Amino acid sequence: MEHYTRVYAPIDLDAVVYNMESMKANLLPETGIIGVVKADGYGHGCVPVAKTIEPYVEGYAAATLEEALTLRRHGVKKWILILGVTAPAHYEAMLDAEIYPTIFTMEQARPLSELAVSRGVSAKIHLAVDTGMSRIGLDADEAGADLAVRIAALPGITVEGLFTHFARADETDKAATEKQFELYLNFVKLLKERGLEVPVKHCGNSAAIVDLPQMGLDMMRAGIAIYGLYPSDEVNKTAMDLKPAMGLKSFVTYVKEIKAGQPVSYGGTFTASRPMTIATVPVGYGDGYPRNLSGRGYVLISDQKAPILGRVCMDQFMVDVTGIPGVKAGCGVTLIGRDKELEITVEELAGLCGGFHYEIICDIGKRIPRVYYRNGQVAGTKDYFDDVYEGFTD
Ligand SMILES: *Cc1c(COP(=O)(O)O)cnc(C)c1O
Repeated sequence: MEHYTRVYAPIDLDAVVYNMESMKANLLPETGIIGVVKADGYGHGCVPVAKTIEPYVEGYAAATLEEALTLRRHGVKKWILILGVTAPAHYEAMLDAEIYPTIFTMEQARPLSELAVSRGVSAKIHLAVDTGMSRIGLDADEAGADLAVRIAALPGITVEGLFTHFARADETDKAATEKQFELYLNFVKLLKERGLEVPVKHCGNSAAIVDLPQMGLDMMRAGIAIYGLYPSDEVNKTAMDLKPAMGLKSFVTYVKEIKAGQPVSYGGTFTASRPMTIATVPVGYGDGYPRNLSGRGYVLISDQKAPILGRVCMDQFMVDVTGIPGVKAGCGVTLIGRDKELEITVEELAGLCGGFHYEIICDIGKRIPRVYYRNGQVAGTKDYFDDVYEGFTD
C-alpha cells in the first residue's frame, strides 16, 4: 500500500471465502455456520469479515454487546449472539438491535423478561449449558434443566438456541469432547421431557468443524478457521484446507554497518562477533509484535531470512541482513506471510515466541492499518489514525 509506509496488515478476503467453502464442504448438509467475529474478527476487522462471510452464515457471534453494535452500525443484518454475559443495563440497546444474549440464570432472565413485556415484544435468547468448561452455563443436570424450563416459561422470553462449548476438541484424544457431547445431548433430552424444544442446537467450534462434523447438529460456531488458521497442530489438517487471511508487511527504515563487538538494542543482549549489516524495522511490541521474539524471530527481506538481533523495542527492532544484497531503506519486510518462496506463518511465530497463535492475531494492534484485498485488488482499508477522544478537547 502506497499510503501506509510504516507497516500494514494485508487481509485476504478471498482466503476468507475459501475457508468458508472448505468448512461448508466438510460439514453435514443440514449443519449451518455461525460466524464468530469477536475480538474485532480475531484482529482482522469484524465488519469486512462479517460482510464477506454473510452468504455462508446463519448468524454471527460476538463476545460483547459493543462488538455486536459495531456490526449493526455498519449494516450487518443477520442475527448476532453475544457469547458472554450481558449486563441488564444493556438489555434495552440489545433488544433495539435484535441481538441475542446468552442466558443461564434467573437473575439474567428476569429483567429481560420484564423489559420485553413492557415493550410488548419477545426477546430471543440462547441458553448456555456447561458440559465441561466450567466457564458459563446451566449445570448439565436435572436441576439445570428445571431452571432452563423456568427461564423459558417467563413471559417475553423465547428460547431460540441452546449451546455448550468444547474445552478439548482440538486434541487428538476426543474422549473428553465425546463426553461433553453426550452430556449436551442428555440435557436436550431432559429439556424435551419437560416439554421444552429448542430450535437451534450448537456445540462445535472450529476444531469440531475440522474433526467432528458429525457433532454438527443445527449449527457450528466457526472462529479461527474463518481466518485460515487451524485450532491446533493436533487436528486433522488434511481433512479441510485453510488459507491464512492475515499478513504483516513493513518497510526497512535504516541500514547500517556495525563492527565486531558492537551491541544491538536494549540490554546489549546481542553483540556482533564480526562486522555485520543490520536493518531497522519500524514495528514493535507497541504494535502487538511479540517482544518474546527478541533474539528468536526472523523476518523475510528479498525472499531471505533476516534474524532479529537483540530485543524487540516498543516501536522498532533490528535484523541481520549481512548476507542479503541490496537492502536499503524502503525495502519491503514480511513479518507474517509469504515472500515468494518463503513463508512465516502465525503458528511458526507462536512457536518461536512461546505464544499462542490465536493471541498473536488478536493482539495485532490499532497502530497497524488493515488493508483488505478482494480478487487481488484493494477493496478497503481500516485504520485508527483519526481516533477520537471525547472530553479532552481543551
Ligand atoms: C471463541 C468461541 C468460539 C470459536 O472458537 P474457535 O476455536 O476460534 O473456532 C466458539 N464458541 C464459543 C463459545 C467461543 O467463545
